[in-house]
Amino acid sequence: MQTLREAINQAQQRGVAIGHFNISDLILLKAVAAAAQELSVPVIVGASQGERDFMGVHQIAALVKSFREESDVPIFLNADHTHSLAKAEEAAKAGFDAIVFDLSALPMEENIRQTKEAVTALKAINPAILIEGEIGDIGTGSEIHETTIDLSKGLTTPEEAKQFVEATGIDILAPAVGNMHGMSGSMVRGEARKHLDINRIADIKKATGVPMTLHGGSGTNDEHFRKAIAAGINIVHINTELRVAWRQSLESSLSKKPGEVVPYKILPPVIESVKEVAISRLRLFNSVEAVARA
Ligand SMILES: [Zn+2]
Repeated sequence: MQTLREAINQAQQRGVAIGHFNISDLILLKAVAAAAQELSVPVIVGASQGERDFMGVHQIAALVKSFREESDVPIFLNADHTHSLAKAEEAAKAGFDAIVFDLSALPMEENIRQTKEAVTALKAINPAILIEGEIGDIGTGSEIHETTIDLSKGLTTPEEAKQFVEATGIDILAPAVGNMHGMSGSMVRGEARKHLDINRIADIKKATGVPMTLHGGSGTNDEHFRKAIAAGINIVHINTELRVAWRQSLESSLSKKPGEVVPYKILPPVIESVKEVAISRLRLFNSVEAVARA
């Protein structure tokens, strides 16, 4: 299988992005792996600290490894939003391909100091592992927010991005460019969409030259996704959209079969619904023609 670094370089050359989908159970993992397989594109499976605590770090790594061995397309594993070196080391030792070391809540100087230390420590465990660092404010939970959040504060500037990348030695940068974790109720209902600062993405790419990830992609306007990828985004994270599909289809499946207790009779429609969402996102992120048009 190709390495994640090779897959990112290939995506950059082709003007497409790799889809990253968070999982917290086997339903989501089966759906994501099947979506990538159906479209014949690489995919990154993500698990945040909370998701890893729930499933087990080693259990996730073993599951993804088993899917990878049966898959025709690369399936990578990322330790999403990791807030301590101990948790990052645990994931590196378990065989994760990448780690998002997220100290973006700390002051810039402290974020730089600790991220630099983490890059050194984690590469000592696995020299091929990719470390993603984060600056700026993109919110926390991938959930449904009651109130709209002001995204104009905490945006990443090209100057601080350049300083952060050079001082830390990170492989991938996660900037704040109008993106936000989670979705508002109006976004779930399809009445509102997130809008990205495309010029800022292009300026940060020019200043840093490193691969970049767009976090909090759920609920983003399709055209903005295309333009963001053309401007230098290489990985796009989708979590809440899958969680919404998971919950809605689970409720629907349970209500259609009120007396049913057999999980493998209740859950297949849930996998199918989540897979459909993943396929539609992967199709958009991997659409070369769409990027050329944008
Ligand atoms: Zn994120």
